[in-house]
Amino acid sequence: MSLFKKDKKEDWFLPEDVRKQLTETFQALKEPVHLELFAQAGVNDEFSDYTSKFCTDLARLSDKITFEQFDIPSDRATDLGVTASPTVCLNPDDYHIRFLGAPLGEEGKSFITSIMLVSLRMNGLSEASLSLLEPLDEERLAQVFVSPSCPYCPGQVMHAVKSAIARPALIKAECVEMNENRELTEKHEVGSVPHTIFNSGAHDALGLMPEERFVVELVYLKSAEELLEEGKLPAVEGLETATGYGTMEPGAVDLVIIGAGPAGLTAGIYAVRAGLKSVVLEKSIVGGQVALTPVVENYPGFTNVPGKQLMDIMSEHARQYVPVHEGEGVESIIVGDPAKDEPIVVTTPRGEYPAKAVILATGASYRKLGVPGEETYFGRGVNYCASCDGYLYKDKSVAIIGGGNTALTDALHLKNLGVNVTIVHRRDEFRAQQSLVDSVEREGIQVLWNTVVEAIEGDGKKATSLKLRNVKDDVETELPLAGVFMAIGQNAATELAKSMGVKLNADGYVEAGPDMRTSVPRVYVAGDLTGGLQQIVTAIGEGSVAAMSAFEDISHPYWKE
Ligand code: NAP
Repeated sequence: MSLFKKDKKEDWFLPEDVRKQLTETFQALKEPVHLELFAQAGVNDEFSDYTSKFCTDLARLSDKITFEQFDIPSDRATDLGVTASPTVCLNPDDYHIRFLGAPLGEEGKSFITSIMLVSLRMNGLSEASLSLLEPLDEERLAQVFVSPSCPYCPGQVMHAVKSAIARPALIKAECVEMNENRELTEKHEVGSVPHTIFNSGAHDALGLMPEERFVVELVYLKSAEELLEEGKLPAVEGLETATGYGTMEPGAVDLVIIGAGPAGLTAGIYAVRAGLKSVVLEKSIVGGQVALTPVVENYPGFTNVPGKQLMDIMSEHARQYVPVHEGEGVESIIVGDPAKDEPIVVTTPRGEYPAKAVILATGASYRKLGVPGEETYFGRGVNYCASCDGYLYKDKSVAIIGGGNTALTDALHLKNLGVNVTIVHRRDEFRAQQSLVDSVEREGIQVLWNTVVEAIEGDGKKATSLKLRNVKDDVETELPLAGVFMAIGQNAATELAKSMGVKLNADGYVEAGPDMRTSVPRVYVAGDLTGGLQQIVTAIGEGSVAAMSAFEDISHPYWKE
């Protein structure tokens, strides 16, 4: 019996505001895009139903989009070799671009972007990536394993999709939702997302990679490090910015803001509104640490909002003022002589930005525990992002290491997903907010107090247990588990600050006055880099102050008085 009902559904599935936004986006569609959905009754039915309704709505929103659905098995499914339910194929007669699993959550974005690129017959790769793809003369399959709440996943999926559009005869791209494709996920031992499997296991890569690195590894089926060691890493010359919404070519600006977390984005809004030509450079994705936070409950105006959603709203707002370049890390900053009005030159792989001022909002990155097994089992049981990888551990046991706000927020999130959680904390009390402590108690989450991790042990392929020690009586125990999440705090990303000679305080954070000026004229700081109360609201406050100080100093340079 077919899963799909034949009667035409008149009610909309997507809410009105989403339809309005998509209708505007679809104005840019050029060539037809044909979506084919395959589903097997009894397998992931609710996800097939969601995908069917979603695609039906998309086809009703634009006459450039057509939609057909097929059963598994069927002749068409056999022709295309589709076995996973549900699978959506985009223009399957021209490209191999497939979403295995419903394009939900974060993947909704990569699905819509893929439709746009297919319709525009545009690959969107940089010039450098295209030249790196040139030598490819064999078939490639890139399967990107994702979860709906992983903010890094769409970036990696888009690398694969763009490559498949650029070389349709040779490159196949698949976005694989891990929960709906358990067998494939287990086969490839996916333990964190995004995890990319090239040619069914000939090579694999963890995390979101820069586009050019993805292309190199796709072509050579080796890591960039291996190629470098072998002296075979191709030179990436003439790297050019892929122009598009919200980007600008490198060149002279008033202000460069480094980092696109709450502090950097706010600084961007304030600076441009004050009349400063500005750009925000972000080496990874927008949102900083907040984008990895499952739930935020103390940002005024939002009683309870996923961190990624809050940062999407904030970045959407910021982009209305300031170009935000994701994936553009800063290589160096040379501070010219302010007395001679020499610029501060910020260099990225894409070019130089001579600027009058710089705001450092580089934030912080997660701290590692440094115990045996942590590196070995990274991505294979050892995780640092509960909102990205929590889904992998439904009905399984995990430990969370730490006793701060992050550890408790993550523990509650995982518990809510149906994960069996134990918190391992080195002291006998938490340093988290009382409301989180109360929730952990209420939820009955087990806590091992006064306990430290001595080692993460495993079977060579994945982590299987923790070796623990009670610091009070020195008794050692073993905790069997499927995964461990580290939440032991963060290290401020002070490398750029140090390279410019900016003064740090005794705790290793950037020293700044209430005006966010640093020890180096024309260099300002905001957010987690300053230490203290590391909250979204404080980062935002500091971002606005840093931007206004930069504006003030550009108009009235205090170092000249
Ligand atoms: P944190 O507040 O620094 O807490 C780190 C926790 O890890 C502490 O409990 C610490 O133990 C433990 N720890 C540190 N090093 C360890 C080691 N080597 N071995 C074992 N345990 C170790 O870090 P965080 O929780 O990631 O938070 C970072 C910042 O973000 C904070 O300012 C926090 O307030 C903020 N944040 C806020 C929210 C919120 O407002 N809802 C949510 C998340 C984060 P000790 O307690 O013994 O030092």
